[in-house]
Amino acid sequence: MSKVLVMESSYENCAEAVERAFAAFPLEIAGKRVVIKPNALKPCNPDTDTAMVTHYKILEAVIKKVETLGPRKILVGDSVGTEFYGRSDEVCTEVRFKEVAGPYYTNMSKNLRMVKLMHPFEREVAVLADVLDAEVYISLPKMKTHGLTMTSGGIKNNYGLLSGAQKSWYHYYTVSPERFARILVEMFRLRPPDLVIMDAVLAMAGYGPASPITYPANKILASDDAAALDTVEARMIGFEPEQVPLLMLAREFGLGETRLENIQVEGNAATLPGYPKPEEPPEASYAYKAGVGTGSTSRSYYRERVAFRPVIDVEKCRFKQGCNACMDICPTRALTSGKSSPNLAPDQCVLCSACKEVCEYGALELLPDSEIMARLQSAE
Ligand code: SF4
Ligand code: SF4
Repeated sequence: MSKVLVMESSYENCAEAVERAFAAFPLEIAGKRVVIKPNALKPCNPDTDTAMVTHYKILEAVIKKVETLGPRKILVGDSVGTEFYGRSDEVCTEVRFKEVAGPYYTNMSKNLRMVKLMHPFEREVAVLADVLDAEVYISLPKMKTHGLTMTSGGIKNNYGLLSGAQKSWYHYYTVSPERFARILVEMFRLRPPDLVIMDAVLAMAGYGPASPITYPANKILASDDAAALDTVEARMIGFEPEQVPLLMLAREFGLGETRLENIQVEGNAATLPGYPKPEEPPEASYAYKAGVGTGSTSRSYYRERVAFRPVIDVEKCRFKQGCNACMDICPTRALTSGKSSPNLAPDQCVLCSACKEVCEYGALELLPDSEIMARLQSAE
């Protein structure tokens, strides 16, 4: 039977909850390569009233605990989302992940591996190799409601394995909550976490993943079964697991326990009173709310991002001085030597954003390509 721990906590005393999580779900860490992945969505000040990212104090407590268990190596990082593709270092600095991780901080977007997804996608994507190769993988999601997936937790935190603006590609092409859930499950199956510790101290409500609405749940959840943890989270938010397409797919694929009656819950997992969850079905929120702050639909919002391609400022580029960093890191060889700067084969680019992550001279930006935009629009 799967077990989920639900602990009362604040950020100040979260080390106690983290200690309890490791006691309830012991991990063999001595001599191992441990990867810790919080949720770094976009820049924000985690000490103000925002619930967009995992709070750095929980990350800090987890790192300190792992250090005591004699790992060979610790890696801490994420590949950021929304409008901040290619800027993982900047975002992880602002949300204080770099500060608390110190020497363990790693820009995982610079170490990618191409992986072929199964039916129905059958497409090669660039994913975080550090997570794939983790001997122990600890996931630190935030408790959130979400415009597309209803809830966001342990399974969805693995969407960060898909580096950079590739995330937009799937937002754009999966066109239904069920198909979007399918890509999340694909990412989850690549490397399920060994331990999930969820920051539900200040949770996010409304239409996430970047809603300004917060809910002080004052809890930390933990489990070695991400699906079971997400099932308990859904009930706490006020959904039946059957209302969450992601959980039903996880059930279909046997990726963990999603039946509440089969989950042993330790602690108070009662439905949180007045949690402002999405009231509309995901179909409606997909069309009108997801990812949008501008009044445009998510379709046009993501079309622009799917048309992103690297654009190099020749004046700033150090190619002539011998820099090859973007070409060397590109996992699809879309960038090759040109006359005065690297050349791009636009259709070979998978939007992984590694080239922007690696350019130290600010010479490379990801910008919408008008030809690709027009092609996408005419195909709709
Ligand atoms: S990494 Fe930046 S500076 Fe170096 S070749 Fe690429 S665009 Fe030019
Ligand atoms: S050019 Fe290469 S490195 Fe840059 S986003 Fe495209 S696939 Fe990634």
